[in-house]
Parts: sequence; structure tokens; C-alpha cells
Amino acid sequence: MTRCFLLLVDGLRPDVAERALAAGELPELARMTAAGGTTRAITVFPSTTSVAYLPFLTGSTPGRCNIPSIRWLDRRTYGGRWWAEREQVRSYCGYQAGRLDGDIAPAVRTVFQLVPESTAIFTMVSRGLTPDRDPSQRERWLWGALAHYAQWHQPSDETVSRYLLRAADGPWRFVFAQFPAVDGYTHQAHPEAPKVLRALRGVDRTVGRLRARLAERGELDETLIVLVSDHGAAPIVSHLDLPEWFRSHGVSTMSHPVIWERNPKAAVMVAGNCSAMVYARPNERRRERWPLERLRRPDAFGVAHDVVDELVREPSVAFVAGEGGEGGVIVVSAAGEARLSTEGDRIRYRPLGADPLEVGGAFSGTAEEWLARTWDGPYPDAAVNLLDQFRSPRTGDLVVVAREGHDFRRRFEVPEHRSGHGSMVRSHMQTPLWASVPVPAGPVRTVEVFPAMLSWLGVPVPEGIDATGAWLPTPLAAEAGSAA
Ligand SMILES: [Zn+2]
Repeated sequence: MTRCFLLLVDGLRPDVAERALAAGELPELARMTAAGGTTRAITVFPSTTSVAYLPFLTGSTPGRCNIPSIRWLDRRTYGGRWWAEREQVRSYCGYQAGRLDGDIAPAVRTVFQLVPESTAIFTMVSRGLTPDRDPSQRERWLWGALAHYAQWHQPSDETVSRYLLRAADGPWRFVFAQFPAVDGYTHQAHPEAPKVLRALRGVDRTVGRLRARLAERGELDETLIVLVSDHGAAPIVSHLDLPEWFRSHGVSTMSHPVIWERNPKAAVMVAGNCSAMVYARPNERRRERWPLERLRRPDAFGVAHDVVDELVREPSVAFVAGEGGEGGVIVVSAAGEARLSTEGDRIRYRPLGADPLEVGGAFSGTAEEWLARTWDGPYPDAAVNLLDQFRSPRTGDLVVVAREGHDFRRRFEVPEHRSGHGSMVRSHMQTPLWASVPVPAGPVRTVEVFPAMLSWLGVPVPEGIDATGAWLPTPLAAEAGSAA
């Protein structure tokens, strides 16, 4: 019987992990990847926890899942009655966290739905799991709250390790375990802080115990172990409070945590905290997003000037994106605009006097060609991710992307984030993909892990997902057999 363990080290940067591996600090992972391999994967936008878990667990991107961010507003149904209609405004960071499963588009199926013999530890996506298959849920809430206030994350990872080893002895064919400590300690300090490395060494020891257990059971060769991360991180040197920025520019603005605002002209939903979605006139129900041209008109946000123009001049803003009046997506930076559009299976990027995505000029290519060209550039896979973002009806009129080193969170919010993620910059978008069997030599998208795991388990991969099958692993024994 084949088995699969997906270990997600939240917020782990690939370069940090690769340096620790090369320095001999991760002996168990070194043994595991000596048989398999290491590569880098590109995550989805926004590069933030829970949204960026979706590709691994569904094979689909946030746009198809209709979960464009950790906070959003349903512009078609929200009419400004902030208390009566509070269900039309979402934040998975508080009491609505449990709504995520029900919010995922109905056609999307999770690995937990497809593999009945599956369990998860510290998961935020649990559609398809029964309570007995999500055994650590209460402890996740408890440790999550404690870690937030006490800034003490290691006990969470130790709880995960305990449940993981127990699951190895259970009937499960698929086990998902999320280790939160690396992300927690990164936010407190920086992505390569001593506590981050200590947490990573803890994961390494757990992998050693897991492999020893599987070896005792005679299951090591038929078990796929994949270690991934949902996003990277980078130090934050400057906080721009985006809702306050709108207010200081004369725009009454609703935002979390207290969404009440008298007659708001904008809703600002921050994620990660290095990106945000902005909805114009949130009190007025409408089906369609306003195109960028309409958003630039002075009356869009109820003030006498072009808010988009002022926003892109902020040093913290890399670029903003909105839909074009003639289709496609318009990307705007302080230098000017560019247009993204699709033609069949090709994505076309046309600078209109500027190159805000820093692609190096006009480019037209398939999604695969975009990945190959941009994966190690300033904004990896940004064209694909921006078009995906505007597939979701819940996405705001404007998407605002922070420059590296900047976030959109209030300066004095406790605990202060000294590092962050959520943007489209390389340090947030690149993640490690390490496995016990060979991985592709070149970069892949995190979404490709889903069909890889299903094919390993012999479970049919569903139609209509975003993964393409770029990585379909074969058992080591089978490889050896075919070579002989
Ligand atoms: Zn985080």
C-alpha cells in the first residue's frame, strides 16, 4: 500500500533551508533528499497562510477556489448594513476562520475528499475531513492563540510532531501536517533567525523519527514524503497603514478589525501583510468590478483626485492592478502602465510606456513559458497570478502589491511584524520543494504537488484543476527495477 506524507513548514524560505542543508544542520532531510531531491516551487498570490495551502490540497489556485485572499467582501451582496450583513464580509483571521471550507468553490475537491483514508494535523483547510480525521483541531486553536500573544511557537510544532508520529501508525494513506513555528519566529525577527533555524532542526528530527517508524513497518520505499512551504518572507523596514492612508487622503474607509465606518467610500482588506484588495463604494451592491479607468475618476472614491495615481507614488507600493475597460488586467506603477491579456493559451504582456512587472519588455507565452522566464525574477509568475486573482468574483476592484521591505500593517499593532509576506516579490514567492523521490530539476508551481501525491496513491486526478502534471513521481524501487 502506498502512503504519502505532506509536511508543510509554514513560511520557510528555500534559500534558508538550502543553506542549513548544505551546512549539515538537517541530517535527516539530507538522507531523505539524497534519495529524492530538492527544487524550488513558486507559490500563489497572495503569498499567505491558508490561501497558499489551497494549491497543495486542491490542485487549484485561489482564483478557481474563489478564495482570493484571507479577507474579502462580497460586492454583489454587501449593501452597507455592516452588522446585519457581516456574513458578506470575511476575515479568516478571527471567528470566521471556520468558514473557509464552505467558501471554497463547490466544484473544487480537496485531497481529503478524494482520499477517504486521510488525516490532517494543524490544517486550516479541512473540507472533507470528519472530526476524527482532524484530531488536533482543538490544540491548534489553543496553541494558535497562545503563540499569538506569548510569541512562543515551538510547542505547536512539538504537538504536530506527536500527532504526526501517531498518524504514521494509523490506517492513513495520506497525512498532512503543518508546522507553524518557522513562520511565527520569522515574523518576530527575520527569516534566518536562530529560533527559525532551531524550529527547522526540530522538523528535521521529526522527519528522522517518521522515516525510522516507516522503516520499522517496512513501508519506507512505498511512502512519498514531501516537504514544502506555502510562502517565503522578508524583513520589513517600513509599515504603511493602507486603510489610514485612504482616510488621510479624504476617503472614508472600512477595514478590519472594526469594519464599521459611516458611509465608507472604500473597503481596504490587507493580507499577509504585504498586499491588499480595495473595493470602491463598498455600500453599493454591484455585480461587476469597476475597470481601472473608472477607478481613476475623481468621483470613484468620493474625492476630487485620482486615488490610483497617488497610491502608486507611495514608496511602499510596488504596483496596483485592476481590470481594463476592454478586458485584461492593467498593472500600474509610478512609472506607468502595462496590460495583461490572454489569447488562447498564451498570456500577453504589453508595456504601455512602463514595465511594472519588470519582465524586461513585451512578452507573450504560455503559462509554462512565463514560469521559466520569471521564476527567479523580481516578481515570479506575476502575470499568471494576477490573471488568476481576477478570476474570482470576490476579488476587489484594485489589488495593491507592496515593495519588498514594506507592509500595509499598522505600525503599533501587537505583536509587531519584523518580517512579513503576502506580496509578489521573489523572497515571498519562492518556496522549497523537497521529496523522498526525485523532483523536477527546474522550478514548478506549488499546485503541481497535488497530482503528484494523488498519482503516487493511485487515486485518479480530477478534471478541471490548475495543475498540469508537471511532476508525476515514480517509486524508487520501480525506477531501479526499470533500469535493471
Ligand atoms: Zn505568516
